[in-house]
Amino acid sequence: MQRRPFEPEMEQFRDAARKFFQTEIRPHSERWRETGIVDREAFLKAGEAGLLCIWADEQYGGLGLNDFRYEQILIEENAFHGDSGYFITLHSRLVAPYFQHFGNEEQKQRFLPSFISGEKILAIAMTEPDAGSDLAGMKARAVEHDDHWVLNGTKTYISNGINADVVIVAAKTHAENPHGVTLFIVERGMEGFERGRLLKKMGMKSQDTAELFFRDVKVPKANVLGQVHAGFYHLMKGLAEERLIGACGNLAATRVAMEVTREFVRNRKVFGKPLSKMQNTRFKLAALDAEIDIAQVYVDRCVEQHNLGKLDPVDAARAKLYTSELAGRMVDEGVQQHGGAGYMEEYEICRLYQDERIHRILAGTSEIMKEIIARSTLD
Ligand SMILES: Cc1cc2nc3c(=O)[nH]c(=O)nc-3n(C[C@H](O)[C@H](O)[C@H](O)COP(=O)(O)OP(=O)(O)OC[C@H]3O[C@@H](n4cnc5c(N)ncnc54)[C@H](O)[C@@H]3O)c2cc1C
Repeated sequence: MQRRPFEPEMEQFRDAARKFFQTEIRPHSERWRETGIVDREAFLKAGEAGLLCIWADEQYGGLGLNDFRYEQILIEENAFHGDSGYFITLHSRLVAPYFQHFGNEEQKQRFLPSFISGEKILAIAMTEPDAGSDLAGMKARAVEHDDHWVLNGTKTYISNGINADVVIVAAKTHAENPHGVTLFIVERGMEGFERGRLLKKMGMKSQDTAELFFRDVKVPKANVLGQVHAGFYHLMKGLAEERLIGACGNLAATRVAMEVTREFVRNRKVFGKPLSKMQNTRFKLAALDAEIDIAQVYVDRCVEQHNLGKLDPVDAARAKLYTSELAGRMVDEGVQQHGGAGYMEEYEICRLYQDERIHRILAGTSEIMKEIIARSTLD
């Protein structure tokens, strides 16, 4: 089904974004996969191209374009023409908005321009070795002193963890209330802030996922983001959008997997005819095609609702759950249709398969999405 058309200026934006990913990102992809990290310059280049934090007010250097479809376009173009480990959406639309929503004017002026230019790279650190889905179990703690807080703790699996200059760190600040969490802005160079290993992963090989350590880090009070003890609620506020970002990414990756699989089965000959003429291939891909088309309508509708400020968090959970499971089925079938070639890293479907697996875990696992849906439909 044809998607509801994007505005002409959005199509122009898509063309510019595509060109950016094709010329500035894809050519470096192979090298980044080997080094396990994206060049910092890739963020500066995106800043120069006006692709970072485009929602931000012009007074900070942004374009003031708050329509989520711009981000959807960037996510889609990055999936088709960029690199799966190039996390500009995490930087731009997932972490930077915390400064917009919860930062005071001084913090906005101090930080937003450097996020928009790509000079400073962002990460968010919630997960710990013993606390992921159950964030209330986090052990990181901060204790208040006169003009600063002293932060101690360990965070793990942090995306952009090595490249990040500014990390939003969630830590407990209330002795009795397990939800008494505060968000701290920790900056590169603060004493006691150290990075651990660049973690080796199944997929998204160019993404610098890392452990972070905080040992008696003195965080000035000017670096508390939002209200003290209200960090948990600040994190919850961003979750619907985070899941929508996930859904857009999952679906774009599913489309890429369908495209490369179609291309392969049309060209691969088995028993004297193209694989695309075998009934099994036709039925399997046709069924997935129908699912992709229907999912796109649902995701686009979620985007519309989000633009109206009306996205139901349960709908966002449905979108994230469905698209991540669909992506899993698509890449699995894609590998199967490729035969042995599907197991070779030089084939894109193999990489898509490796990259996809995390999306049923990241940003809330499928089980947590089901729990959210069940709570609203069964309880
Ligand atoms: C590549 C990568 C990048 C990441 N980036 C970041 C980042 O930038 N910042 C950050 O803070 N975190 C990040 N994470 C962490 C990620 O968000 C967590 O891994 C995820 O939330 C799951 O937590 P966990 O790993 O502790 O698993 P657990 O929570 O221990 O889950 C283990 C299993 O238990 C199941 N489970 C848990 N609770 C329930 C329940 N109530 N009912 C039924 N089943 C349940 C889960 O679904 C899962 O199957 C990243 C992780 C990866 C792998």
